[in-house]
Formats: sequence, structure tokens, C-alpha cells
Amino acid sequence: MDYIEHSVKVEKRSRRIKFAAAAAMLAVAALIAAGVFWGGDGNRSGADREGTTGAGEAGKSEVTAEISYDSQIGELSESESKSSASKTTGREESAALPTEETTYAYAYAGFSPAIANVDIDEWWLILVNRDNILPDDFSVSLAEAAPGTGVNLDERVAPHYAKMYSAALSKGIKLTPLSGHRRISTQKKNFENKILYYRNMGYGKAEATQLAAKIILPPGTSEHNAGLAMDICSLDVSFEKSNEFKWLSENAADYGFILRYPKDKTDITKITYEPWHWRYVGVKDAKKIKALGVCLEEYLDM
Ligand SMILES: [Zn+2]
Repeated sequence: MDYIEHSVKVEKRSRRIKFAAAAAMLAVAALIAAGVFWGGDGNRSGADREGTTGAGEAGKSEVTAEISYDSQIGELSESESKSSASKTTGREESAALPTEETTYAYAYAGFSPAIANVDIDEWWLILVNRDNILPDDFSVSLAEAAPGTGVNLDERVAPHYAKMYSAALSKGIKLTPLSGHRRISTQKKNFENKILYYRNMGYGKAEATQLAAKIILPPGTSEHNAGLAMDICSLDVSFEKSNEFKWLSENAADYGFILRYPKDKTDITKITYEPWHWRYVGVKDAKKIKALGVCLEEYLDM
């Protein structure tokens, strides 16, 4: 969402909402103090519902409403779904990424990720998270994930999504792809807009950046930047109660996809529970990860 657009919206809000924003500020500060988890896709409601302490109920629910609204629009606008290019390279979008010699652009806020090892034979197991960033020369070739959707994934992953999509559809389940590959430049733009949003609320540069990072992953650290993950159907935690989620839980591993940020692994993934975010890791490893009941970080440590 555009920063100016946001300001206009804020202006239009009622006095009650202005009060709520103040309460939200206090609550956000309390959430930082409580050391809550990051949201990989921007939806904070999971963490809020999981019962983070330190804020009153009213303040808490306002935080949820404010941030979910904001970030969901951000998430949808982040989608590269309308991109007509079937191929892209990461070279032109690497401005914020570190090399072996340079420092990460957000190191001032305490972010110093290692450079992810993408030169591995088992490319489907690439670890991209807050501590492992895509290298500055990262590039990915894209393909449409499901016919006619315009949502792209890594071309090696897209056929697996397409297969899963049609298998589910034959059972009356529609796995609508919401957000697949996302350019690092788009991730950077959204991240910087979010920093501005917090700067405008009066936070200092480092604190505003840390707050932004709780809602949007810093550029280069999202699995969407790698084209390996898909947000499916909804960006709300209530998705876990849907038939689509039930189908995914039972069958996605057969197509190589895992629930990447499970509810009981947030202390390891450092990402809020995201029932909609499914990551391709290959059929063999997806089945193992599911059977072991571990998250990707744990699996790669074994
Ligand atoms: Zn996602």
C-alpha cells in the first residue's frame, strides 16, 4: 500500500480510530517488549490470537485489525501475479542484498543474515529465512503455477503446484493461488513503506525497521522471493478451518509441499502461524518432514 494513500485513509478515520491508533502504538511497543514472532507474509493476527501478553484486550484487537488490514493489502499488492514475463533474473533487484564484502542494508537495525547457500544439488531444500538471505546474484526462472491464474513460481516447482491444483479440483477443492513469486524489489518497496509508516508514528529508524520486519520480511529473506512458496486461498488464520486446508494437510506432501510455519514451531521458525503458506521441498522430503512432525529448520539440522 502506498504511504500517501495510507495517510489519507488515516485522516479519514474517526476520532475513535485515532484513539485506537494511539492504543495500537502502545500495544505494538508492548509486543516488541514481549518479543513476539515475525510475520512472514504480513498477517499478524496469528500471533495476536496466540495470546501475546502486555496489552489490554482493546489495544490488542485494534493492533490486529490495523495491521491485518494494512498488511493484507500489502500482501496482495506484492503478488507478481500480473507479471507477463515468464522469466526473470534477480540481478536488477538486488540493491538491498549483501555480498560477501558488503553489509546488509538493514544491519543498523540488527539484521545480519548469512547468505543462503543456493548452489546446492538439492535446490528444493534451500533455506531462506530471517537468518539466511538470498545472494545478490540470485535469479529464478518462473512459470505459471496453475493455468490461467497468472501467479508464478520457480519453473521447477510450478508443475507440481499445477498437478496438486488439478488433483484438488477433481475433489471439488479449489486451491486458489494468491501469491507466489514476489520480486525482491517489490519486497523492498513494501518493507520500506512499512518503515516509513512507523517513522511517521514517531519511532526512530532502527525501531521502525524492527517493527516493519515483524510484519514484512526484509527483502531477500522471503521464500516468495525465491519462488518456492505459495500463499493459498486466504491470508487469515481462519483458513485452518476450511476444507481446502484440510485437503492440503492430508495431501500436499504427496505433491512436495509442506506447511512451512506450523502453529507449534513458531519458536523455531520465528514466523507466526501461517496456514496459507505452503513451501515446495520435493515429494520425498515433504513426506519425511510430515511424518517426523518437524519444521524445515529442524529437518535440515538432522
Ligand atoms: Zn507466504
